[in-house]
Amino acid sequence: MASPFICLYCGQEKQQSESSLEHAIPQFMGGNCAPKIFQLTNVCTTCNNRLGLWVDAAYAKSWFITNSLAEAARLLCTKPDDPGLPLRCIGPAQIPNLVVPEGHVAEHWIGPSGETVTWIRPHDERMDGYTGGNPIDTKKKSSVAYIFPVSENPGKWELGFRSFHRALEKRKARKILAAAIREHNGNEVDPTILGFNSPTTEEAGNREAIRAAIYAGNIPVRVAVDTKFDLRFMCKLALGVGYSLFGDVFLTQPTTAEARKGVWPPGDGTTSAIRGMSTFSAVDASFAYLAGYPGAVTIFVMRTGPSWMMSVSINEKLPLVIELGPSSMTSHHVNVEEGYALLLFPYRDSFVALTVAELIAHKSGVMRNAALEKIDAIRAAASQFDVQLANDV
Ligand SMILES: [Zn+2]
Repeated sequence: MASPFICLYCGQEKQQSESSLEHAIPQFMGGNCAPKIFQLTNVCTTCNNRLGLWVDAAYAKSWFITNSLAEAARLLCTKPDDPGLPLRCIGPAQIPNLVVPEGHVAEHWIGPSGETVTWIRPHDERMDGYTGGNPIDTKKKSSVAYIFPVSENPGKWELGFRSFHRALEKRKARKILAAAIREHNGNEVDPTILGFNSPTTEEAGNREAIRAAIYAGNIPVRVAVDTKFDLRFMCKLALGVGYSLFGDVFLTQPTTAEARKGVWPPGDGTTSAIRGMSTFSAVDASFAYLAGYPGAVTIFVMRTGPSWMMSVSINEKLPLVIELGPSSMTSHHVNVEEGYALLLFPYRDSFVALTVAELIAHKSGVMRNAALEKIDAIRAAASQFDVQLANDV
């Protein structure tokens, strides 16, 4: 019989039947294509499911992270037939005459060329700060999304539509085109050919309300921001990355127990004593630049004094820092002197792993890194594509 295991996240003994495959670095950060060492099996199903919805999603779907990831992807999109880009979220919108069913909310998003997207979706009060709402609800409960393109130029609307369809993938959403698209001869393109639904009477009415609000230049929005969106996530990521890099020695450290306390706060009012800086307490913005890379989700692991510290940034912004454990821990994955840097590019399903020293040498031009030069070339092409898109009318 297989022996029980201690769950990395909750620290409780669990049977093998309760073990699940967990990516220490979640999918939205590019964890699906991260090195194999970041795949864990010592995580229980309960932690995997509950932390995915209440901890990973609280971070991933916060307004800041959603929009930073969209900006990062934009830096790596090089041509019209690249995959659609993540939409940027503006926030819940109040549009005059828009019919929003009970228990739903209208949310305003922006496409890569400035397309307006209005998504009428189920609302879950507990997830007011989640862009896109409750991710499980929107897979099961129906919603309607409208897109208003900014241009009839195929170069622009093709990427806009592809981005719209990608954002609604696996969502139970009807898709309505809110403007006519015409061929060169002036004939209107049938929206169903482009993957849209034919509007019902109510949807046609809503389409008019959205158009009127756009022409009036007036879509009032409200942004719900939870400034503590990252605390539990930081601790969870520290557990996953710390164990992946340092192995069993990581499990016996007092800091590991504190990180668990941060993931599952005990009901007795005590809080985790782990050291770190959450996203908005990192006052020095230049730190994110140093510990980051354009277009990348960057994970930095460095020895500073008595501790190993991890920092995370997205597109050189929104840094967070957390202690992984004492600097006495060693690992053949981490260079003691030069640290460990993992750059993830979720939009391109790729990563670059190197030392912190190598990353800094590349960024400062002292010594170029071949893998990063490839990324830099993609970014240069993306920047040209951006100019081309902006010039298309
Ligand atoms: Zn667990």
